[in-house]
Amino acid sequence: MRTTDPGDAARIELLLAELRLPAIKLVWASLAAQADKEGWPAGRFLAALAEHEIAERSRRRLERHLAEARLPPGKTLDSFDFEAVPVISKAQVMALAAGDAWLNNGANLLLFGPPGGGKSHLAAVQRLQIARRELALEAAIAKLDKFHLLILDDIAYVTKDQAETSVLFELISARYERRSLLITANQPFGEWGKIFPDQAMTVAVVDRLVHHATIFEMNVESYRRRAALERKRSRGRPPTHATITANA
Ligand code: ADP
Ligand code: MG
Repeated sequence: MRTTDPGDAARIELLLAELRLPAIKLVWASLAAQADKEGWPAGRFLAALAEHEIAERSRRRLERHLAEARLPPGKTLDSFDFEAVPVISKAQVMALAAGDAWLNNGANLLLFGPPGGGKSHLAAVQRLQIARRELALEAAIAKLDKFHLLILDDIAYVTKDQAETSVLFELISARYERRSLLITANQPFGEWGKIFPDQAMTVAVVDRLVHHATIFEMNVESYRRRAALERKRSRGRPPTHATITANA
C-alpha cells in the first residue's frame, strides 16, 4: 500500500497554512490514509478535500454571522406557535427566511401589531435564518450597507428625537431599493406621525418602505398574556404568584 512520504507531509502542512486552508489542513492526513488504503482515484481525494473546506467555511460563516447578529436565544421557527397568529402561515415565513429574492431586491418586511403578538420573535427567526444585524443608530449608514438585512425592532423606540429621526430617515432612504429592512412596530402607518415629528418625512419614509414590501398585520392577543391566562386556568393560579406590598 502506498502512503504519504513524511517529507511531503511536512511540506503539505506548510503549504496548506500558507494557502489558508485550515479545514483541509486538519483532515488531509486521515483522508489521505483512507484514500491510500481504499485505493481512491486522485480526483476523488481532491474533491473530498475541497468539499470539506467549503462545508467548513460555510459553517464558520454562519457561526460568525450568528454571533454578530446577537440573536435573542430560543426565538426559533420551531418555538413559534403559528396557530396563535392565523394571518401568518409557517410556509410564508419559511419562504421569506429561505428565499433570497426579497433580500437581493432590497425589499422590506414590515410587522405590525400590539405588544406581545410575537413581532420580535418572528423578526429573530428571520435573523436566525439569514443571520443579520440590529440597528445601532451611532453606526455609520455606509458601514451598515454591507448587511443584506437590518432589523429595526420596535421602530418607535429608536426615534426619540429629531436628530435620531433624521438619521433613521437617511438610513431608510439610503437603503431604498438596494438593501432590505425588517421593521416591527406597535402601530401601523396611520400612527407614524407620532413617531416621526416631521409630517413630510413620515410620508416619504412610509412611501419608500411600502413600495416593495411584505406586510404582516399581527393583530392577535398578546402571546404572553394568553400563555399566562392558560397557566392560570390549568393550575388554578400562576406558579410564581406572590403578593407584593410597597413597604414589605
Ligand atoms: P412583540 O415583539 O410583538 O411585542 P414578542 O415577539 O416579544 O412580541 O413576544 C412576546 C413573548 O411571547 C416572547 O417570549 C415570544 O417568544 C412569545 N411569543 C409571541 N408570539 C408567539 C407565538 N406565536 N408562538 C410562540 N411564542 C410566541
Ligand atoms: Mg417586540
